[in-house]
Amino acid sequence: MKTPVPKIGFYFSPDNVAMARRNIETHEWAKRRFEQMRQQCDDFLAGYSDEVIYQCTLSMRGQTFAYGISGCPYCQKSFPSSPEAQSRMFSLFPDKTLTCPNCSHTLPNTDFPDDGRGFVHKGSAYYPVGMWNFYTAGWLLGGVRDHEGMVTKLTYMYMLTGEKKYAQKAIVILDAFAAVFPGTLGPRDFTPYASKVEMGRLHLLTSIVHRVKVFLAHDYDWLYHLEDMDTLSPALTLLGEPGTVRENIEGMLHDYMLTEPGGPAYNLKDGNLTELHNHEADGVRAMLAVGLVTEQREYCEWGINATEVFLSNAVGRDGMYFEGSYGYSMFTITVFLDMALLSVRAVSGTPSVPSHPFASERFFRFAVQNPMEMLCQGHLPCYGDWGQDRVRSREPDAKTLRDTYRAALHFYHVSPQSNIRDEAADWLKRLYPLVFSQLGEKGIDLFLWHPVWKHAAPLHLPKDVTITGQAGIGILRDTNETTVLMRTGANHTHAHDDALALTCYAYGKEISADLGYSVYGSNGHYGWTTKSIAHNTVVVNKDNQMKKGQLYKPFSGGEFSLLYRSPEAVVYEGKAPSLYGTDAFQRMVGLVPLPDGSSYLVDFFYIRGAGTCDYSFRAFHEKAELTLEGVRQLTEEQGGWTLAGVESSAKLYFDEPGKSFGERLTTGETFVPLLEGEKTQYWTPAPNNGYGFIYDIRQYHPQLSSIKARWESEEGYEMAWHGLMDADDRVMTGKYPNLSGTEQHPILIVRSHRPTKQYTALIHTTKKENPLRITGLHRLNARGGEVTAFAVEAGSGWLDFWAYSPVAQPIAVRTRFGEWCIEGRCGFLRTDRTGKLLAYACIEAVSMTFQGKKMEGTKREWVPIKSIDYKKRALRLRPHSIPKSADYIRIAPAPDAPASLYSVKEVRNGQEEVTVLLRDSFSLSRGLIVSCEKNTIRTCYPLPLAASFRGKLMLGERGGRAVIEDVPDLKTIRARILAPFTGGEAFDIIDAAEGYVTQWL
Ligand SMILES: [Zn+2]
Ligand SMILES: [Zn+2]
Repeated sequence: MKTPVPKIGFYFSPDNVAMARRNIETHEWAKRRFEQMRQQCDDFLAGYSDEVIYQCTLSMRGQTFAYGISGCPYCQKSFPSSPEAQSRMFSLFPDKTLTCPNCSHTLPNTDFPDDGRGFVHKGSAYYPVGMWNFYTAGWLLGGVRDHEGMVTKLTYMYMLTGEKKYAQKAIVILDAFAAVFPGTLGPRDFTPYASKVEMGRLHLLTSIVHRVKVFLAHDYDWLYHLEDMDTLSPALTLLGEPGTVRENIEGMLHDYMLTEPGGPAYNLKDGNLTELHNHEADGVRAMLAVGLVTEQREYCEWGINATEVFLSNAVGRDGMYFEGSYGYSMFTITVFLDMALLSVRAVSGTPSVPSHPFASERFFRFAVQNPMEMLCQGHLPCYGDWGQDRVRSREPDAKTLRDTYRAALHFYHVSPQSNIRDEAADWLKRLYPLVFSQLGEKGIDLFLWHPVWKHAAPLHLPKDVTITGQAGIGILRDTNETTVLMRTGANHTHAHDDALALTCYAYGKEISADLGYSVYGSNGHYGWTTKSIAHNTVVVNKDNQMKKGQLYKPFSGGEFSLLYRSPEAVVYEGKAPSLYGTDAFQRMVGLVPLPDGSSYLVDFFYIRGAGTCDYSFRAFHEKAELTLEGVRQLTEEQGGWTLAGVESSAKLYFDEPGKSFGERLTTGETFVPLLEGEKTQYWTPAPNNGYGFIYDIRQYHPQLSSIKARWESEEGYEMAWHGLMDADDRVMTGKYPNLSGTEQHPILIVRSHRPTKQYTALIHTTKKENPLRITGLHRLNARGGEVTAFAVEAGSGWLDFWAYSPVAQPIAVRTRFGEWCIEGRCGFLRTDRTGKLLAYACIEAVSMTFQGKKMEGTKREWVPIKSIDYKKRALRLRPHSIPKSADYIRIAPAPDAPASLYSVKEVRNGQEEVTVLLRDSFSLSRGLIVSCEKNTIRTCYPLPLAASFRGKLMLGERGGRAVIEDVPDLKTIRARILAPFTGGEAFDIIDAAEGYVTQWL
């Protein structure tokens, strides 16, 4: 078999073809996948003549492309999105119709004719022909689901077999689409009907054009030498235009480059970088691919530099991508791997060789280690803009495993660092047994060699705690693996306004029922699911400062201030006072495993300095009934059909039955009917706090000092929420919709007007058939300011006692078995029914005493940093007592200043000093000085993580030094200059220095 010769081999080289052949010989899955692909290609060759491909593709010229998010004009249901269901919906060319799987109507028809431009019916736009074009173009050219099209599969087959028939057919597809590509506008779902706004090309929205470009450039690379390339283009000839096939294809590759109409604004020209979000990363990926295959040196140089900047500034010191959704991080990993791979290929011939991206530990942590450490009962965390998590399983998420395996495979093959290659091999060994049967869906699976392991190694799901220091994601897991995720990090693109909200996992389900995300900018996204009230958190002053269209509040981030781990309880606390500018806004959460496999969660949410606090809680994605005990419903006229109407002085037009946003949210995440002044897309009310989406409000007075809210799910689960009440608390229930209004769920809200409010709750989720129940909280009298203490019966004859105070002080709690004293601010005791002590936890206490027994906790002291070795990532501290599990250390300029949290790799306890080796790198971001005048510094590279940079240090390589005061835009820093910077000076932004103090978390 003769391997064809590519022009460059920039993505897959002839070496990769040899690896693919070896995979096919060695691995059963690779052989099967290869045979399947050959069958697909042969079927395609037999079924589709060049003439049909040209006719079909050229018929799309001047027509629309559309996802079809408005659904079916007959039955109003949305169309299925899975490829299998879609393949049954669409007719074969030359017909261009679709049949609704719900109501069986075929479109277009005489009721609803479509000349290719779609039509409007009852205010919504429909594009049946556009949907056909979208589906067909996706199949032939690839794209939307990150999948490779027929054109790329045919090219792979040519690479692997050397048979020209595959190459010739691939050229036909490329030639046909290249002729219609320029001038198309992208899918029409996200602009008003008949709008000429450019949103992409063909069926490819914005950044997806760039994603597909890599494959198209790769295909062209391998088809480059075929003689068909230099003949007159049949596609252009049919359109009456001049040009060869090569000119036509190169025209397509160069079209729609460097910027992204219809997407976020950026321009890569001259190596400029703007915001470093995933769209721009895709732009760099395409620029590198096209630059490599068409030998545009500039594109390659800009791309190499951009890759370095993305890895140092879009990923934080904790290896976390800046955008506020973990799903987006996972996607971005695939983009960065391509960028890094292409950048390594582009390096040859550049004058100054930059650092090798696959030598970066930060990149390895981002792409390989973090995805495995972030799993929650096997689930990919769903916070921020990401799909609803309705998975019912504790198995690790299959796609995350595959993506991580692929990332490790890249490092295994490409990293120049032997320690990284070794660890990558270790991951491959653990992951291969779990993923091999699903490999082969992507070309990269075939073209990178998969080593054969003699002995498999088990993969362990992450245990107890994962905290990312810069992104501020904290995941707590108890010995039953019940899991809670809380975020204290700054708000960035794609975040939801969910600081200190709880995402909870039990029984393999995400039981906090995050509403998720599907279409950016829809009314449901902008106005509802991003809002604080749509999360399990506390909303201060009804979020009434939220403007129209605003997704989240500016938030520079808070911190994790406490962590306690024992078999009896795992506890942490997050603080975020700057979120609302209140004196205090903090939540301490603990998980306590019970003998039947269930766990309870304690929740102490403390707020000082608010006018109104609304604590909200929801449970279960599935249908559930919410009932309350210990309350009296208010019968008098209280006003407020929606939460927005409660205590509202003005009459709101949507505040009556049938008119709330929640009741009118429907398919397409918009409103039906639209009321005066509303729009179908990108529209929100003001204030944009989501309160008008919660309707059918019922209001209650607490009758008891502890009330119970119980959700009973139709899948046989039960969640009991027990809350300690203040007499003036207002308890409310309401209903809220999912994103597309197809479901309605109950919500609990507890409103308080106290200037200092302590919410205290215990949440227990169990299966209905499990007998173990928690019977309610008993508030205990305690000495000490603002101390909250309670006792609870927790099954198996256990009595659990909890005490919490926002400040450390001497505390005395009166229990039925005698006084419990705490020197500190939080403790836990467990006794049997006779008062015999079974367990205790000095959660944040120097000591506790109970029944004459003294229990020693740890004193958390602040220890100054004697010296720092930035290169070795080492802190030197004076000798002091080190906790058992020294995994996280806090670093602050002074004990009372906000602290940063670092992951620790290793502690060396010497006689003279303690050396702490950090896992995080010291650099938060990097830059290059453009100018430094007075207190204003301009840097070459954007700082997307800047929201949390106030007070951080800038250290220049030539001695420049400054303290950041503000980052007004992503390339401008206002700072207090301690030593001046010079033009072209590289600098790091850091948050640790000699003289700073440290404390073990
Ligand atoms: Zn229908
Ligand atoms: Zn959310």
